[in-house]
Amino acid sequence: MTPVSRRHVLGGAAALAMAASSTVRTAVAQSPGASNTEAGAPGLHRIKIGDIEITSILDGVRRGKLVASPSRSASLEQYQEALAADNMPRDEIALVFHPLLIKTGDRLIMIDTGNGPRTLNAGTGLTAQRLAAAGVDPAKIDTVIISHFHGDHIGGLVTLEGAPAFPNAEIKVPLDEWNYWLDDANMNKAAEGSNLRNAHANVRRVFGAIPGKYVTKFGGGKEVAPGITAMATPGHTPGHTSFIISSGSHTLLVQADVTSGVAVVFVRHPDWFGGGDMDGPQAVATRRKLYDMLAAEKMPMAGYHLPFPALGRIEKSGGGYSFVPAA
Ligand SMILES: [Zn+2]
Repeated sequence: MTPVSRRHVLGGAAALAMAASSTVRTAVAQSPGASNTEAGAPGLHRIKIGDIEITSILDGVRRGKLVASPSRSASLEQYQEALAADNMPRDEIALVFHPLLIKTGDRLIMIDTGNGPRTLNAGTGLTAQRLAAAGVDPAKIDTVIISHFHGDHIGGLVTLEGAPAFPNAEIKVPLDEWNYWLDDANMNKAAEGSNLRNAHANVRRVFGAIPGKYVTKFGGGKEVAPGITAMATPGHTPGHTSFIISSGSHTLLVQADVTSGVAVVFVRHPDWFGGGDMDGPQAVATRRKLYDMLAAEKMPMAGYHLPFPALGRIEKSGGGYSFVPAA
């Protein structure tokens, strides 16, 4: 794929993409005290991309018994085989969530916010506590950038009492995402009581708590904060957006939910539709285009649902890909 066609396919942000294969590995090695284990870990892992400091935050782990395939295009047996191939139990599903805290110059930025404090009983929603542990006052966050409107990404925008969790931040959201979810006709097409209907209601709950003047909308290819450029990656949701963080010659691709659920399964099997992928064929096409680019460029990646600290890179493997965690 030529640089020109990549730009065309993935939007202007890809033009910023430059090979930076060693950036994450080097940065992680320079981050003493960070832990790659879930138990007893602070759930924070800091790296640098050029001059930009990035902290991966473990919002928590949601565990459940695996009773049905989470993929619409793989049987339960196929899915269990895929879990076993990555050394995970066949009968359990463990979902992880990783918002990012970004420090660039004197600005503090979040990308996504986790499940929110209403989910603490489920083992998630810990982002506010992690930020406190990192010494970050949520009132000092300047900008919160949202990849898409699923509850595990927007839930942390609101406190348990229903107030804005980042009271002084500008909340930047993808325009296509806003237009889809806030359209009552789309909500009314979803059956009462369905997950989709509940997701529409949750979007209204969350954004109903935030004064409109704090919310702005952006399109793909736009620089949404200094060094952070949006890249439209639709399919998972209509306005799903990834980001390229760039400083000097260093880049990091923030994929959000290009693979979701137990994301490594869908990295290996990119043609399977994830349970959360609203448009399966479009999600597959987006995944393959993006991962072909990441593999060719050896570009470091942050993946919201990849194993803590959710940093590494993509390699081609068989008919799919594999995720190589940062050392
Ligand atoms: Zn999602």
